[in-house]
Amino acid sequence: MTQSNDLFDPAPITRFPVAGSDKTFPVRRVYCIGRNYAAHAIEMGHDPNKEPPFFFQKSPDNIIFGDFPYPTETNDVHYEIELIVALSQGGSNIPVETALDHVYGYGVGLDMTRRDLQGDAKKLGRPWEVGKSFDKSAPCTALVPASEIGHPSEGAIWLKVNGVVQQEGDLNQMIWKVPEMIAILSRYFELCPGDVIMTGTPAGVGPIQRGDVMEGHVAHVGDLTVKVV
Ligand code: MN
Repeated sequence: MTQSNDLFDPAPITRFPVAGSDKTFPVRRVYCIGRNYAAHAIEMGHDPNKEPPFFFQKSPDNIIFGDFPYPTETNDVHYEIELIVALSQGGSNIPVETALDHVYGYGVGLDMTRRDLQGDAKKLGRPWEVGKSFDKSAPCTALVPASEIGHPSEGAIWLKVNGVVQQEGDLNQMIWKVPEMIAILSRYFELCPGDVIMTGTPAGVGPIQRGDVMEGHVAHVGDLTVKVV
């Protein structure tokens, strides 16, 4: 909405399409959980048993639908295939037992990561934004309503690069389950309709190059194909 005193037009709102519908889902915030599959925590050099969950954010305008442009200032860009949870109801201190009532639907997304910059940030105790929250760093599919597919808690999640399986896991391997993530996040932040959660990635992350084709799958939700350009 343009207001007469605005110095310039506000940035456009990012909207997910909804599969099989003309409805759209306007995005407010994008929360991401780190190290939520034990095998991935281990491959990143961490003990999966001792850590409480931790979160970071991407920016809503990082979400794209289509080709992924190889980003600037990096030589080591990694894929992370993830289940996306989209909330249509918000709240604070949401109980685990009713957390799924807040979910509108699910999607498939990639938490693309400039791993070299993230690694430098970790070493220096700096924030992760340049590694995680860069332009176009979240290629996604349309959302599928929970009213159609329910709330997936098991089933395959995988990613192929140029037809070769690189990441493979099961949604049931999440250390913190979707209702727990919503409940815990809502203690730190007031959640709102339009908030999106990227729920972590299974083991097998690795680099891509220009020209590669990433194909991702999440059981019950769908498939994502993204070309690196
Ligand atoms: Mn991730």
